[in-house]
Formats: sequence, structure tokens, C-alpha cells
Amino acid sequence: MSTSPATAAPGTVPAPATVVMKFGGTSVSDAERIKRAARRIVAQREAGRRVVAVLSARGQTTDELIAMAQEVSASPDRRELDMLLSTGERISCALCAMAINDLGHRAISLTGSQAGIVTDTSHTKARILDVRAERIREALGEDRIVLVAGFQGISTSRDVTTLGRGGSDTTAVALAAAIDAEVCEIYTDVSGVYSADPRIVPDARLLPVLSFEEMLEMAASGARVLQLRAVEYARNHGVRIHCRSSFDSRPGTFVLGEQETMERPLITAVTHAADEARITLLGVPDRPGAAAAIFGALADAGCNVDTIIQNEPLGEGRGAEVSFTIPREDLAAAELALEPVARELGVARVDTDRQIGKVSIVGAGMRSHPGVAANVFRTLAAKGINIEMISTSPIKISCVIRSDFVPEAVRALHGAFDLGAGGIEPDMGPR
Ligand code: ASP
Ligand code: MG
Repeated sequence: MSTSPATAAPGTVPAPATVVMKFGGTSVSDAERIKRAARRIVAQREAGRRVVAVLSARGQTTDELIAMAQEVSASPDRRELDMLLSTGERISCALCAMAINDLGHRAISLTGSQAGIVTDTSHTKARILDVRAERIREALGEDRIVLVAGFQGISTSRDVTTLGRGGSDTTAVALAAAIDAEVCEIYTDVSGVYSADPRIVPDARLLPVLSFEEMLEMAASGARVLQLRAVEYARNHGVRIHCRSSFDSRPGTFVLGEQETMERPLITAVTHAADEARITLLGVPDRPGAAAAIFGALADAGCNVDTIIQNEPLGEGRGAEVSFTIPREDLAAAELALEPVARELGVARVDTDRQIGKVSIVGAGMRSHPGVAANVFRTLAAKGINIEMISTSPIKISCVIRSDFVPEAVRALHGAFDLGAGGIEPDMGPR
């Protein structure tokens, strides 16, 4: 075999390393960019690695396909919607395979189903149950570059499914786990993961290394670089992720197991979401099952509930106050789902507020350091920003505030914890 990595011990014939390379929609948005992705894939192959590439749909294709469906139906059948949406990624893969063939390498494009990605049956947000990667392994064995359409699979009842917006990240991570790739590279239009959104904080720092736990909290609290589910999958299967730019060759951000990362700074990043909403139910009967009924209905409607607060009733018979945040785009569905439940429970009033934002600080080091929360609250108070709800995990503190104040809060916290370039000694990448 002509493909032994440079590190091979003399006299042994090691299996060549395999890498998964995922290209996002902006990285394949036109013919030039597809050819650029093809050259990058070929360069990895020529460096002696076996390559499985996962591609997203080009540019705005997925949005356009959704709009097309809405032109013919007010509530498109979800099985058919998946048939439609899955085509975007197939287009990218077929085109890229053609470009790679022209560069003198043998490529093969596969749909999610052909690649052996088996999911549950929940159309438009299916979960991967199994990856049967024989066909990929065979193709790699025949010295082919394998292109897999991201964001899709085949359900246990043999229908085409899609994995939810941003799902190509999860395809890439799941394939990396299945074929034991040494790294899952996520090529995107930003250089990696930053200590805050650089559009809000000009001196935000590119983070060379993050732990899975930190990246999970960041993805869950507003960082948009990686799909949350992909990070979960990577953590559960120990897949090393490298988020990097598709427009230059500099290293980006590695996401690794905590044991692989060096000692972390106290706080790693500030994340935010400016497009949340809050629903408050007043006069909720104070008895077992009330919360279960409310949040059961929201779960059935597919609403992603975040921070929840319930206040004890103030006096006999006045009922509790239950308040929670959700993405603003889920608000209409949530209101609809709550109507019958509120009536059944005899809830006095349902209030909604659309101007909700959230800032969070994330850092694995906070686990063992007291005083971080106090510093967050002091910093926001000094800016005159009112905190409306608070939620925490061992490595995250989130504050719900008015959405207008989000940029100022992000800048203040980034400054208070000295997260900017020059504030922290840079790590040198993974050990
Ligand atoms: N094309 C899909 C989307 O736009 C999946 C992806 O890009 O990861 O959400
Ligand atoms: Mg994406």
C-alpha cells in the first residue's frame, strides 16, 4: 500500500489513517467553492489519508426547498418534506464527486441511506440509531474517496429521514465514530470557535481547544458553529472534532475529551441568544401533575423549553406562577399547545414576552472556583442590566435579560473575565 502515514514504524504495514471532512453550505455554495472543496479533499488523500467527506446542501438550498414545500401546502406532509429536503445534500455530493474525478482521483457519492445511516422514524428531526458502514469501508478499500450526503438517513421503516437543521454535522460525527476516523474536520466559513461572537466583541479570541462539555454548553446556549446533537454524539463516542475555515489552512478549534485538553482557564467563553421568548402562566393549581401537563404538551409540540422557574404560591388558593423561555420561533406553536392545558388546569392567565435574550458564561474551570456567579451579577448590575431569570450548570451560568441589552452584556462579561486576545496565554492545541 502506498499510503502509510509518515509515523509508521519501519517494517510494519499500518492501516492508513482515515479522516472525515465535513463542508458546510457556504463552503460548497457555487461551482468554484465545490472545486475548492474537491481540491482540499484530494490534498488529504494525497497526504496518505483515506477520506470520507460529508457535504451540506449548497448555500440557501434547504431554505429554498422548505419555501417550495410551503408554496404547495400549508403544512407539508413530513415524510414528503424529508424526501424533498434530502435532495439538497445529494446535489452537493454528486457535483463534488465529478470535480474530484476530474482531479484524477476516484470518488463515489452516496446518499445517507446508501451510506448505512439508520434513524428512528421522526421525520424532519430523526435521530441516528445505527451506522452500517460496510459500503463506505468497501469503497475506501477500493481506494475511492467517499462523499456522503449529510443531514439524512433511512428510518427503521425504510423511509428517507432528515436529522434537523444543521444535521450534516451529526452525519459527519456519526460516520467518524463508525469508521474510527482519527478526526472529524468541520470546514466552515469561520475560523473556529471564538470566546464570544466576533461581530459583537471585536477582540474575541479564537479558542484552540475546548472540551466536549464546554462545547455542549456553548452550543446549547447560542454558539452556532456546531449542531448540539453532533457535539453530544462526539462526546458519547469520543470523536475528536476540528472546526476550521474552508478558506485557509490555519488550524481552528479542537473539541476533545477533557483528559486530552490541558488545564483550562476559569472561564472560556461568553455565548448569547437574542431571539428568545418567555411564557408565564399565572394561577397554576399547586398540585402534582400540573407541571407535567404543561411541559408534556410543549414537548409533544416539539417546543424546546429552556430556563424554567416556578414560584411557590403566595397564599392559599392563589396558585403558582410558572415561567419559562423558548426560542422565539417556537412561540406560536407553544401558545397553541398550551391553550387546552391552561383551560383544563384552570390557569388564571398566560402572558408572553417576545423581547427576551440570554447571556451565558461557560468554562470547565468554574467547577472548582467560587465567586464566578457573583462576578457575573456584579458586572451586569454595573451596566444597569436587570437579570430576569438565572440558570446554572456546573460549568455554565446563564442570565435571561431584555434582548436589547444582549450585545452590551456580552461585551461587559467578556471584558470582566479578561477573555480577549492577550488576556489569556494561548494553548498550543491538543496534547
Ligand atoms: N442543509 C441542512 C440545513 O441547512 C443541514 C446542514 O446544513 O447541516 O440545515
Ligand atoms: Mg451548519
